[in-house]
Amino acid sequence: MNTKKVWDEFLSIIKANTTEVSYETWFTPLYINHVDEDVNIIYLASKEEYILPFLKDRYMGQIEDAFESILKTKYKVVIKDEKDYLPGGKTLIEATGRKPDEAKLFNPRLNFNNFVVGNSNKYAHAAALAVAESPAEAYNPLFIYGGSGLGKTHLMQAIGIYIIQNKPGTKVLYVSSEMFINDMVRALSENKMRSFKNKYRKVDVLLIDDIQFLENKYSIQEEFFHTFNALYENDKQIVISSDRHPNNLVEFEDRLRSRFSWNLIADVQPADFETRVAILKRKAENAGIAWDNDMLDVCSLIAEQITDNIRELEGAFNNVVGFSNLLDEPINVPFAKRILKDVINDSDKAVAPERIRTIVARHYKIKVADMDSQKRNAEIALPRQVAMFLCRENTDLSHQKIGKMFGNRHYSTVIHSFEKITEMERKDEAFRKDLAALREKIKDKK
Ligand code: ADP
Ligand code: MG
Repeated sequence: MNTKKVWDEFLSIIKANTTEVSYETWFTPLYINHVDEDVNIIYLASKEEYILPFLKDRYMGQIEDAFESILKTKYKVVIKDEKDYLPGGKTLIEATGRKPDEAKLFNPRLNFNNFVVGNSNKYAHAAALAVAESPAEAYNPLFIYGGSGLGKTHLMQAIGIYIIQNKPGTKVLYVSSEMFINDMVRALSENKMRSFKNKYRKVDVLLIDDIQFLENKYSIQEEFFHTFNALYENDKQIVISSDRHPNNLVEFEDRLRSRFSWNLIADVQPADFETRVAILKRKAENAGIAWDNDMLDVCSLIAEQITDNIRELEGAFNNVVGFSNLLDEPINVPFAKRILKDVINDSDKAVAPERIRTIVARHYKIKVADMDSQKRNAEIALPRQVAMFLCRENTDLSHQKIGKMFGNRHYSTVIHSFEKITEMERKDEAFRKDLAALREKIKDKK
């Protein structure tokens, strides 16, 4: 394919079908990074990260149609920030000589260099690095768990990228559990289980992301169990991620759950304030934005407001930078507040869940951290359930979010707590008084 010619034709089609300002804003920062003709994918790169969400949202259909009309075949289009390709526009495939089907599973940006280490993730980071340096010798299996947007996929990808770049003979496969499921379903229907097994059992390192998606799917768990054993018995590295601790993977076979706990279990926690600012600083540096006092203030503002999800933290940052570019306005705190008005909490209205947790813990004379632990004795379990109940009653948080806040528990635990406490309130006079007192304290001096 003559990419230059295709690209010129593409631009003229788009130009004819959009306004000049849209064309300038959304399409001039783009170029073709490379084309994978084996699987009909065109990879576009953007010089500006901030246009990507808008562009994908509004123009993807038009983009794919334009390519289809030029190439007379349907191509899938992938658009990434240019920093998501290796420097110089190279792909991992070109830079490492790896096979496309191996290398294209990795996003070069999600490497160890770009991972900011803080108290919340230092163990998981150290474990991941050790595994990358010495697959199957350091920790096997390595199980990483934690809430959404806290860097699990980033660490898994970093392991893979490190190995691809530094260990030429080592075969590595990264899959989300959804890919594993889809692959297996397809293999079954096409009678290709042998090649499915080969694919997963003939690697040196298997990175399997979001294993919680195998919950309830017992026949797939069974297959994964055999994959796990085959790899493990042959001294191959297995890395698994999950949104919760193995003990809380309820609808899982015991023998799998216990294997997950055979070696190291490392968690990623929500990052503390300093780490959140450091992550945004790294992003600003990568985007070539000067780190001045305004930038520091804006990033501190964002980091104060968005506390429990780094993906959302980055999203808010991209929004501010993006609109500053679009509207040609300088980045400062008033501007950021304007852009982020939906995200920024009206602190008078909201009851912070941390406040509820602290009040409940103090009332029952336990530590806040006890509520996140696995302890099941009544002295801990009851306060935990009460705190979950009050979080649901007094905040807009979903069951999922509340569960995550309490040591990554499954949302069904939150529902169960809510039902149990409601029942106790109805039946138990003394408890009702306790609860009323707690509600008063929560309402106090918000
Ligand atoms: P998870 O898989 O846990 O849901 P991801 O790994 O996808 O989360 O992380 C969400 C986003 O936050 C990604 O863009 C990732 O690069 C970024 N991120 C998470 N943790 C860090 C970190 N410690 N340093 C830099 N970026 C991070
Ligand atoms: Mg992930």
